Amino acid sequence: MAGKISGTREWAVAEINCGIGCPHNCRYCYARVAALKSGAIADPGQWSQSRIIEELVEAEHPCYPGQVMFPTSHDIIDDNLDAVLQVMAKLLDSGNRVLVVSKPKADCIGKLCDRFDEDRERLLFRFSITARNDDLLSFWEPGAPPYRERLQALELAFRRGFATSVSIEPMLDADDIEGLIAELTPLVSHSIWIGKMNRIDERVEIDSARTAAEIQRIRDEQTDFRIRLLYEALKDHPLIRWKESVKAVAGLELLSESGLDR
Ligand code: SF4
Repeated sequence: MAGKISGTREWAVAEINCGIGCPHNCRYCYARVAALKSGAIADPGQWSQSRIIEELVEAEHPCYPGQVMFPTSHDIIDDNLDAVLQVMAKLLDSGNRVLVVSKPKADCIGKLCDRFDEDRERLLFRFSITARNDDLLSFWEPGAPPYRERLQALELAFRRGFATSVSIEPMLDADDIEGLIAELTPLVSHSIWIGKMNRIDERVEIDSARTAAEIQRIRDEQTDFRIRLLYEALKDHPLIRWKESVKAVAGLELLSESGLDR
């Protein structure tokens, strides 16, 4: 695939889901905006209701020509865990390499580790851990697990011998990002991705004075100047990977092929 690659295509050649909607209800959610545009939900309030789509659970998958990402339009929660296990089994049975992306609930990740222990070599866990500060997390990602639970899930997958990775996209607390990375690094075997909050005007509804203040704080923390400083501070860290939003500011070459994950 030629041209500039961004978003999930930096990580995967195909996006797989078994439902839609997500109780994590992140204020910056790209999938909610896409669901509204496509008519899959009629208003933003419906997003927090997770719905399993049986046709997607039953679908057969080929062996895709590269890593596939699962899920992208929901998360992995108690309510959809059976469907998640079925879809992952189908993907792995077809020979795929699967990138599992989640704001992880530790007990769900424990069950995935138990079920797919023998498929360890073809699974990569990437956990979204966007800050350590639970006040910021509960504001921006109100239904998602707190920091300690995400850390616990990361440690669990790492100790069980799975490849582990973290996504700090969007950075919710740039002032603490080096502390966050230092704490996560011993539990990460693959990569730590860093990216800005994208398309704020389109995705984040300003519903209160605090939201307006938080958006301004995020904008101030991801100016080109701050991003270049961050890049200089972390560019030699062996696990750090930069999302397209940072590469564009730091003057790095953008990927021209999807699914490279580097
Ligand atoms: S966890 Fe992902 S899918 Fe769920 S609300 Fe947050 S950004 Fe959207």
